[in-house]
Amino acid sequence: MKSIYTNIFGWSRLQRSFSKIYYPKKIKDINLLNIEKVIARGSGLSYGDSALGKYVCSSKKLNKIIKFDKKKGTIECESGVTFNQILETIVKSGWFFHVTPGSSFATIGGAIAADVHGKNHHIEGSFSDYLISFKLIKKNKIFNVNKKNKQLFRSTCSGMGLTGFILSAKFKLKKITSHLIVSKTKKFNTLGSLIKEIKLNFNSEYSVAWLDLIGNKNNKINSILYLGNHKRTSSELKFRYKKQLNLSVLNKIIFLNDTIIKLFNYFYFNFSKKGETEVDLFKYFYPLDRIKNWNRFYGKKGFTQYQILLPEKKFIKNLQIINKVLNKYKNKPYLAVLKLMGKKNNNYLSFPKKGYSLAMDFKYSNNLKSMIVEIDKFIIKNGGRIYLAKDSFLAKENIKKMYPMITKFNKIRKREELFNYYESNQSLRLNI
Ligand SMILES: Cc1cc2nc3c(=O)[nH]c(=O)nc-3n(C[C@H](O)[C@H](O)[C@H](O)COP(=O)(O)OP(=O)(O)OC[C@H]3O[C@@H](n4cnc5c(N)ncnc54)[C@H](O)[C@@H]3O)c2cc1C
Repeated sequence: MKSIYTNIFGWSRLQRSFSKIYYPKKIKDINLLNIEKVIARGSGLSYGDSALGKYVCSSKKLNKIIKFDKKKGTIECESGVTFNQILETIVKSGWFFHVTPGSSFATIGGAIAADVHGKNHHIEGSFSDYLISFKLIKKNKIFNVNKKNKQLFRSTCSGMGLTGFILSAKFKLKKITSHLIVSKTKKFNTLGSLIKEIKLNFNSEYSVAWLDLIGNKNNKINSILYLGNHKRTSSELKFRYKKQLNLSVLNKIIFLNDTIIKLFNYFYFNFSKKGETEVDLFKYFYPLDRIKNWNRFYGKKGFTQYQILLPEKKFIKNLQIINKVLNKYKNKPYLAVLKLMGKKNNNYLSFPKKGYSLAMDFKYSNNLKSMIVEIDKFIIKNGGRIYLAKDSFLAKENIKKMYPMITKFNKIRKREELFNYYESNQSLRLNI
């Protein structure tokens, strides 16, 4: 089996590891993988150190769609298959994902391990809610897992690769009659009016808001809410994947800074059109996929995405307090995205639960970690948590306070001696 030594990064390019990476092509190859303390890696789109480690098993070459049942709307594929690859196959037959993350380049293995959510968690839940079954290799034994195998299902979906390597998966798809999304755009100047509108539009299939947390003054926060529904009348079914813009010359010389973002946000807010339009689903769900390596625009030291979740109760007040902390540290997010989250599922380390999630991109600065540590404490005090697929700084003593089921997860890892088999830089940092 092919293997190489190389430097790999988390998507935010803040953390890296010099790793030996294995590229199995067949299930048989993974059976031969008798190394200790390996971590699985898909497309490496998790922002922090969850797919970094000394020994890495890449799913890149496990990239085959095994079976697509057009009638039933189910698909089975190897774990390294990306959402993008699947879209090419399914959209023309009138199918889409129940749940998709904001990048189509994520793999199915990565989506299960992080139990990803989309812009519709309030209605449709997380990716694993539509999983029929998956094959997992654990300590060189293959397991066929479905929801009846409670422990293995709940610990692997959201388990960040720490229960074994997912080989393949079968899941349900969602019927569509058009590749268009009917999108409504609304603008607000205060958090109160934004939240009121999100609640009023609870039945909208998709709901996501862009927030300007860098240009705000006197608690006036500009925001744009994007509500979306699949177009119901029959029209074309095409997946129009546009080739990525390659700005690799620019991203070596132009780096984002506060002034550029303030200007961008001013124009973005003031010149975005309000009202209803029909948008191609690729543009609607995966806007950042258009630009190749956009993460490099943050400069050599990288950035972090910090995704928090807070309960609905006192959310506006709590967000204003967090905004004050951002002001104190003079670290303002260059991108801030708010989503409404629905009920939690039973997976041990799944991020979503009822409330609002806010994902914020911060350029690296010397006091970034201190600021995040301070906000982490506030979030814990207020019944919230942070998303492990975006985490770079969480302290080991805090994970229990955010994810009480970690105790059960760790017990399983201990009982089955999984500590000796699966390890990432994140699991070492968090003592998982
Ligand atoms: C632009 C962008 C938008 C995003 N939007 C969203 C969003 O809307 N919602 C959301 O939930 N997330 C979102 N994410 C995060 C992303 O979806 C998750 O981090 C996802 O896990 C990435 O998949 P990947 O294939 O890149 O996995 P990697 O980053 O390579 O790995 C992530 C985790 O999955 C594990 N893993 C990967 N493959 C396997 C396998 N075969 N078996 C076992 N474990 C495995 C790894 O060990 C690691 O712990 C976004 C990321 C980006 C860059």
